Amino acid sequence: MSEPSPLPLPALHASHSGNWLRATNGSTKAVSKGDAIMAAADTPVLLLNAPLVANRLGYPDLSGLDLLELFAFVHPARFCVPTPRGLASALGLDEPEGDEAVPAFLQKAAGALAEACEDPEWFERAGAWSSLQSLEKLRWPWAQVIKPHIARPEKAERWLFSALPEWEEAGERGPPRQVDLPSADVLAKLDELTGEAAERREGQRDYSSDVAKIFAPRQRSELPHVALAQAGTGIGKTLGYLAPSSLWATQSGGTVWVSTFTKNLQRQLRTESRRAWPMKRPDGTPPVVVRKGRENYLCLLNLEDALQGGFAGRPAILAQLVARWASFSRDGDMIGGDLPGWLGTLFRKRGIAALTDQRGECVYAGCPHYRKCFIERAARDSAQADLVIANHALVMVNAARGRDHAQRPTRVIFDEGHHVFEAADSTFAATISGQEAIELRRWIMGPERKNRGRRRGLSARLADVASYDEEGGEAIEQACENASALPSEGWLQRLHENEPSGPAEALLSAVRTVTYARDETGQEAGYGIETEASGLPGDVIEAANTAAEALASIRTPLMRLGARLEAVMADPPDWLDGQGRARIEGARFSLAWRADLLAAWESLLVRLGGPADPEFVDWLAVDRSDAREFDVAIHRRWLDPMKPFAKAVLEPAHGVMLTSATLTDRVGAEAGDPWESAIARSGAGHIESQPLLTAAQSPFDYAKRAEVLIVTDVKKGDLPGLAGAYARLIEASEGGVLGLFTAIRRMRAVHGRIADRLAREGLPLYAQHVDPIDTGTLVDIFRDDPRSSLLGTDALRDGVDVPGRSLRCVVLEAVPWPRPDILHKARRAANGGSSHDDRIIRARLAQAFGRLIRNKDDAGHFVVLSSAFPSRLLSAFPEGTMVRRVTLDEALERVSGGLIGEDKPKVDQNTGILDDNIPDSFA
Ligand code: SF4
Repeated sequence: MSEPSPLPLPALHASHSGNWLRATNGSTKAVSKGDAIMAAADTPVLLLNAPLVANRLGYPDLSGLDLLELFAFVHPARFCVPTPRGLASALGLDEPEGDEAVPAFLQKAAGALAEACEDPEWFERAGAWSSLQSLEKLRWPWAQVIKPHIARPEKAERWLFSALPEWEEAGERGPPRQVDLPSADVLAKLDELTGEAAERREGQRDYSSDVAKIFAPRQRSELPHVALAQAGTGIGKTLGYLAPSSLWATQSGGTVWVSTFTKNLQRQLRTESRRAWPMKRPDGTPPVVVRKGRENYLCLLNLEDALQGGFAGRPAILAQLVARWASFSRDGDMIGGDLPGWLGTLFRKRGIAALTDQRGECVYAGCPHYRKCFIERAARDSAQADLVIANHALVMVNAARGRDHAQRPTRVIFDEGHHVFEAADSTFAATISGQEAIELRRWIMGPERKNRGRRRGLSARLADVASYDEEGGEAIEQACENASALPSEGWLQRLHENEPSGPAEALLSAVRTVTYARDETGQEAGYGIETEASGLPGDVIEAANTAAEALASIRTPLMRLGARLEAVMADPPDWLDGQGRARIEGARFSLAWRADLLAAWESLLVRLGGPADPEFVDWLAVDRSDAREFDVAIHRRWLDPMKPFAKAVLEPAHGVMLTSATLTDRVGAEAGDPWESAIARSGAGHIESQPLLTAAQSPFDYAKRAEVLIVTDVKKGDLPGLAGAYARLIEASEGGVLGLFTAIRRMRAVHGRIADRLAREGLPLYAQHVDPIDTGTLVDIFRDDPRSSLLGTDALRDGVDVPGRSLRCVVLEAVPWPRPDILHKARRAANGGSSHDDRIIRARLAQAFGRLIRNKDDAGHFVVLSSAFPSRLLSAFPEGTMVRRVTLDEALERVSGGLIGEDKPKVDQNTGILDDNIPDSFA
């Protein structure tokens, strides 16, 4: 490929180590922040990731010619890591050597993108010219620059909404055939999937045979086969379960659901499933479908609204770029699909969320794009699929209140099974909050202000029913009238001024007052506060009872309306066509869901004054973040959320498996049964099932590949000491460090102290909640650059899969104790006190350690900066892993020297005692 001609425009690059400006005439110089800001204000400059550059310069209003926007226009739906190195790789250019070379690279990359538009083979040409016309009207800074490079098409281009394909209605699939899977067939399938050249892994074969047992015909109704499978990292778990799954799906004609907790695993599964299934069946339908919650997908009606004036200014440019993407997207998935994760953050506001169906306002067949709708397509495809890749929350919601009974999952493999408990915890929770209640009000009554695009209330959405069916019309009117009891815009402000309006705001006000009155944490404003929902003062109980009555007065007409819609469906009028019926079906489903929600809120409120129900934990909370209150709520959680899980998911199912590398508790030898908590947290105990327990050990040689270093001389609370330790460890390891924190504030402080110093040494440091980049993209950046390091909190402890050199050291700031909030304290008391805490910490340590060794060639250190690391927790690490208590200097020596495992002294895993006499074979 010939070198592209650089675009003759000034270019700016800012990193933690400095700022560089390249003039049009070709000279690059280091500049101060002030000069960089002035230059960008004077004339549009080329830059990469404007919000990040703005963040580095401390000037939020910075704008310019962002190459990421141009990339999203030229190559929508194509992956690109949003760094100079990532862009170079996506465009097939040489990576710039050092920060100083970046501005010249930006000119060259802009030239390459402009030339791509002139290439006759440009894959994403369709629609580009028309889209550019709209972008020009919106004054997109790139429009004038790129215009000369995009030729006007000879024929008029089809508008996105007519160009997208329609989905086909398919007949019902019918129930699956009952089949047995002989072990020999399963193993033959596994051999086929792993390939002849693959090394035979006994652990994987045993695992696969065990998984097959969940597909056997069920013996009794409401008693599924349940398997719990501990699958050590590296056993080949995915193909291990895909082999029996594909065999069963083929032989039975049924659908297997594989559920994950992270989007990352969904992506991997999509790729791995290609070994078992083709992209398309002979009839063109996909045998494998990724299915997410509807709030993940682009809503075409929202997009149309945004394109036609619903969005103005920068968000309107975003809408145009999303429309470009929609033409090339695989499935319209905006969150974790093929829309670049960084695109939304370039536009700062909640533009992406506003283009999805966040609020359940879909009008189904009443929508002009219904037959092209990505969400409807995914739902239809999954009903016909052999394999549906979903997430825990969606599987639970579908099982509990799915629209279509025939589509409920009956054979489910929960991968990342250690997260099923927390997913059930939130799925089966009830929360009345200001934010939730105002959403419900808007769903019923429509937006309060007129300029809210197409969003409309019940009466507008069901206008035809209202005029046809008098009783239905009255019910709508009544529901709208009574919904005015719910909070309206400005409710939080009114609470602050002690002037609540209506029964729901009065309740929230009383909740807020009592929560503050009882607060003993002494925390400055900025963190959420909470209080038990017990012994509440009379005014709170009174407000709760009044609010419950108000909620009931909304629920009753909603239910009446549901019944009227059912009656209309039973005896349909002539004008009701297929599309109208589908819309009314959709409305019935949405109404039932809202009526259930209201009933759950009412029951929560009327119990506030009564005796505590031992099945539940109830509390009041004021949510705050960065010194700002954003919600007031009453929460209810099941003490054991696996109880409703067992009822909603397990009982109706025929076969369910939970699998993970950290399913069992790595209790020390004397401490008890490692399966005990896994069984309790699977829900199997609530259906009298004897789950099949199976474990396959990791084949990795942890003694040779990993080492745990417990650093004993970084004092708790010494922030400069903590920051210094992080910086020195990152330097010793030359990047490749994943730093995990239990508090965002500490993480920000550490990042602020060390990022510049490290950048000057060519060691970029990124951080969640600091860099204006979504977490998935941060992990992509970290994976892509072996000299970079990443700091983060909980989400990174478990959701990062970075094999190879990019991740060679994990550093934990402290022992990850659970936060002693009300919910935790209740579960702690019910589950054995401190042993409950220990189990949680061991699981967190095991998950964090699991980031380190992802394949057999990985090696590295796991560092905990806490002298107070209890020895009883050491069993969290895989058997054979060397554990040392060392000073920071010793740790630095081992990390920089790559020393792993070969020296004494060692620590006994069960006693935690340093012992020079432990034979080498132990390690
Ligand atoms: S059918 Fe619903 S989700 Fe789909 S495009 Fe129309 S309104 Fe949006």
